[in-house]
Amino acid sequence: MPRPILATVHPDALRHNLQQARLRAPDARVWAVVKANAYGHGIERVFEALRGADGFALLDLAEAARLRALDWRGPILLLEGVFEPRDLELCSRLHLWHTVHCDEQIDWLAAHKTQQPHRVFLKLNSGMNRLGFAPQAFRAAWARLNALPQVDEISLMTHFSDADGPRGVDHQVAVFEAAAADLPGERTLCNSAAILRHASRPLRGAAGGTLAADWVREGVALYGSAPDFPEHSAADWGLQPTMTLSSRIIGVQSLQPGDTVGYGSTFTAEVPMRIGVVACGYADGYPRHAPTGTPVLVDGVRTRIVGRVSMDMITVDLAPLDAAGLAAGIGSEVVLWGHSSSGAVLPVDEVARPAGTISYEVLCAVAQRVPFAT
Ligand SMILES: *Cc1c(COP(=O)(O)O)cnc(C)c1O
Repeated sequence: MPRPILATVHPDALRHNLQQARLRAPDARVWAVVKANAYGHGIERVFEALRGADGFALLDLAEAARLRALDWRGPILLLEGVFEPRDLELCSRLHLWHTVHCDEQIDWLAAHKTQQPHRVFLKLNSGMNRLGFAPQAFRAAWARLNALPQVDEISLMTHFSDADGPRGVDHQVAVFEAAAADLPGERTLCNSAAILRHASRPLRGAAGGTLAADWVREGVALYGSAPDFPEHSAADWGLQPTMTLSSRIIGVQSLQPGDTVGYGSTFTAEVPMRIGVVACGYADGYPRHAPTGTPVLVDGVRTRIVGRVSMDMITVDLAPLDAAGLAAGIGSEVVLWGHSSSGAVLPVDEVARPAGTISYEVLCAVAQRVPFAT
């Protein structure tokens, strides 16, 4: 028998979450962001459920080629644009739309020989200071692109640093409105947090409308995570988990008061208790920094991990099951995040948070050695 750990992707939940984005941004088209192998889910595993999106956004050219290999003929956007001039040949061949965020990318386009003019998304640095043209350089970049025979349509794009938090988006929206003003072209501003929290805010400029604009770029919310957890939970936003990481109990220990568990003896029993040993560790992608108290479901009942996460195992407190008279033991189902076979839900956000990280990182970290169902 193979080791019992298993990751399962839930296509119905992906469809449901995509539908939630449509409800919040009814007039926008939706990019399903599938970078990082669809946030660890696998592009091929999410494709059917997400093909109702208007386009796919990612940043790795090899991943774009995988979408074309699935016979996706609709829009694909490279969120970081091309990394070197010859990437433009693949853009021409696979019909990829690409972000343009720096002068060098315009130089490469100007030197690119193509029969097919490219659709580009000109990126404004509205304050995040990662990628994009400074506001005072934005119009000149637009004019340069507009003069190139290699360029067909120019759309306008920016990215928010604080859509999930108290600083919000107003300061960046003002910069975008001023820099884009009367420039023609479709607009895209919102990531998941902005879709959920700010999409209906008005947007001034050539086209007017709301912040959702022409396209929204939805990533983590598609995968059932609340970008502003713990202020809101996934359930608050009507999102369902799209991945379950499950395993089983492979050993049980009975502890007496004073007994300790695992490396470093970081957990000491204060009362007699049973501990379940689970076939899942940090080599499977479970966060090593998850402390005692991090939630876990055993046979659908919420309990906690105790002691340190080791490479191949974690240890969980069986007391809540014992107290309820449930006979947990070898073979009991353990859900690290997602949902149990009885329907109990453990959002990945609730595991990421105590481990000092975010759902994005936890989902992307599911290891190669973990087999996937579906
Ligand atoms: C990753 C990414 C997104 C999606 O972000 P989420 O927070 O996962 O919704 C949107 N836009 C850009 C430019 C990105 O890199």
